[in-house]
Amino acid sequence: MDFDLTILGSNSAVPAFGRHPSCQVINHNNQKYMIDCGEGAQFQLSKYKVKRGNINHIFISHLHGDHYFGLVGLVNSFRLNGRKDDLHIYGPPKLIDIILIQVDVFSPEFGYKVHFHPLNYGESELIFENDYLLVYTIPLVHKTETNGFLFKEKVKPRKIIREKILEYDIPRHLIADIRFGADLVIDRKLIAKNEELTEPGKPSFSYAYCSDTVYNPDLASIIKDVTVLYHEATFMHDFEDKAAERYHSTTIQAAKIAEMSGAGKLLLGHFSARHYDLQPFQDEARTVFSETYLALEGTTFNISE
Ligand SMILES: [Zn+2]
Ligand SMILES: [Zn+2]
Repeated sequence: MDFDLTILGSNSAVPAFGRHPSCQVINHNNQKYMIDCGEGAQFQLSKYKVKRGNINHIFISHLHGDHYFGLVGLVNSFRLNGRKDDLHIYGPPKLIDIILIQVDVFSPEFGYKVHFHPLNYGESELIFENDYLLVYTIPLVHKTETNGFLFKEKVKPRKIIREKILEYDIPRHLIADIRFGADLVIDRKLIAKNEELTEPGKPSFSYAYCSDTVYNPDLASIIKDVTVLYHEATFMHDFEDKAAERYHSTTIQAAKIAEMSGAGKLLLGHFSARHYDLQPFQDEARTVFSETYLALEGTTFNISE
């Protein structure tokens, strides 16, 4: 099952040096999920050839402009392009008022259906589920109410050992339950434990988006063992005081969160416009967490490896 992430923008606050504000797209099992939609998102989709047709879910972290100023334009272009599929938008409750001032997405003439899901803040909640994927909010600590997002593949079915099907003459209708961990029970009698009948299935992968946030060690337990973590690093370590004052994080703090949570990989983003050269961000974070990479726009990361 494909699971990858394309960065369309990872700059903070204002566009700088040709870099765009926050926007990224997850591709999972041929469905696309957009996270944040900063100014210029449509141009970036075209530039990096990300097809917009199957973007059916858009998640907005908070109401600072660098995370949603591209949304109204995109939603309107969907209409002009003759979109018919429903679109789900998840974000702070006030977001829908902001959209409605500019485009009446709820009008019957709009062309396609928009479902708005206002998000709570303060506790991690399940906000989306299909057969393969779960999406939870991650409460972040920032100047305004902010949620990150955790994309988690569901546990994949175990493999049944062929010989065991014959040995125990396992009835067909029990196979599905056994693949999801059930023991073989016939007439209320335990015939065989699941471990004897199955081998582990394929691993499940996960991705956590944590932007914008002040350094918050409580995050580690919510995103425990995440495969890939995107954590903002607006500033380098020498601006630690400024980061705290502005409710942002530094390279070293992002790396500490990655280390504490047992992440497989760390992607740094939300770079301050004061830096042209971003290589020092990676170098500095790697002194704490070696598997650190820059979330540069145009880059695609494979989550399922
Ligand atoms: Zn921001
Ligand atoms: Zn912000």
